[in-house]
Amino acid sequence: MPTYDYAIIGGGIVGLATAMTLGHREPGARLLVLEKEAHWAAHQTGHNSGVIHSGIYYKPGSLKARLSREGTRSMVEFCAEHGLRHEVCGKVIVATVEHELPGLESLYRRGLENGLNLVRLRPEEVREIEPHVRCLGGIRVPSTGIVSYREVSEKLAALVAAQGGELRLNAAVKIIRPGRHAQVLVTDGGEFEARFLINCAGLHCDRVARLGGVDPGAKIVPFRGEYYELKPERRHLVKALVYPVPNPAFPFLGVHFTRMIDGTVHAGPNAVLSLKREGYTRTDFNLRDFAEVMAFAGFWRLIARHAREGLEEMVRSFSKAAFVRSLRRLIPEVEPDDLVPAHAGVRAQALHKDGKLVDDFLMVQGPNAVHVCNAPSPAATASLEIAKVIVEQVPPRRDLRSAAPAVP
Ligand SMILES: Cc1cc2nc3c(=O)[nH]c(=O)nc-3n(C[C@H](O)[C@H](O)[C@H](O)COP(=O)(O)OP(=O)(O)OC[C@H]3O[C@@H](n4cnc5c(N)ncnc54)[C@H](O)[C@@H]3O)c2cc1C
Repeated sequence: MPTYDYAIIGGGIVGLATAMTLGHREPGARLLVLEKEAHWAAHQTGHNSGVIHSGIYYKPGSLKARLSREGTRSMVEFCAEHGLRHEVCGKVIVATVEHELPGLESLYRRGLENGLNLVRLRPEEVREIEPHVRCLGGIRVPSTGIVSYREVSEKLAALVAAQGGELRLNAAVKIIRPGRHAQVLVTDGGEFEARFLINCAGLHCDRVARLGGVDPGAKIVPFRGEYYELKPERRHLVKALVYPVPNPAFPFLGVHFTRMIDGTVHAGPNAVLSLKREGYTRTDFNLRDFAEVMAFAGFWRLIARHAREGLEEMVRSFSKAAFVRSLRRLIPEVEPDDLVPAHAGVRAQALHKDGKLVDDFLMVQGPNAVHVCNAPSPAATASLEIAKVIVEQVPPRRDLRSAAPAVP
């Protein structure tokens, strides 16, 4: 059985960015990436909005605020260096009713505290940027951009391979057990021994942490985000990115318009409980995934706290008319016939037993391991910076050689 110095579980953008960063720090190390699907970025990374988030929304001083601000810069630099399609198009956040104006103002102040360069806009100034938007005021965030995170991930995988890293697709980690030299990863693509593990398993990160003998202190609850797409002849309604003022108590940004890097315009995503961790349609169901959520007290406490918002999201999922109503608050010209159903993504959001969402990125140390236990949006934007934080927690190769085998 081959023995590796480092094994990274998960070939999404966080796992691949970590592999590249670690490979760079430890040239000559035996590094392995294990991904259960047949291609990279198969889940959250390949089903998202493709926005390079500036970091306006996040609590000042949090990892999310710092890493998304730094990640905006490093993601743009990475794309420029490797010739990947991207565009720093900026976005507008707009208040469409009177009672959203204080929220817009606090968002503006929060963005300034987070060190962003922002512009307060009067309604006519918003219309110079987005002629079809009707609002009472807005903020322009010039540093926001768009990209394909799938393309970024493919490039990262190629760079890891070029550094000498080994990448295995179709290798779902099922068991982690102590071995002769280190930990044995039993996968459906063979067995591998690794002295140090990095768990970047996204929607399954809590389960992989438990396989490694670690209680992450939170459970992943999957929230599906569904999108519609504007028909090609109506794409002119949106120049770049148009967002509403989000509900500060809710972790999602509200349905918005996003011009994607391929020129299509997507509207969404909403946020509804998914009955399967990787369930991309309303009928996808997995008994284990569903039963775990239903048996989790934290979920019911969350529901009790956000009953109204949860119900609105459900209605928007089942009723196109309700979805369109939300979008028309931003662009009144949008008609139901302008929109066709598009892709969906499932967010991995960690939830505490007390029903509070894990607000920040969360990494938990285990025996000869680091587990990334919460990496929701803007983790794609921040991936190159999250990777640096993870790698700081990983011992150098010379120390691994003498490390005692881990017993999960
Ligand atoms: C609808 C939606 C919109 C979003 N929009 C944005 C956005 O615009 N900008 C932004 O910055 N972020 C956005 N995000 C968040 C962003 O996509 C995620 O934070 C990011 O992709 C997380 O990357 P990851 O590598 O941790 O997870 P993932 O991309 O989910 O990767 C985890 C990988 O681990 C693999 N895996 C799981 N279990 C195992 C196992 N046992 N063995 C082997 N492999 C395993 C999975 O197959 C998967 O490929 C959005 C997310 C969603 C869902």
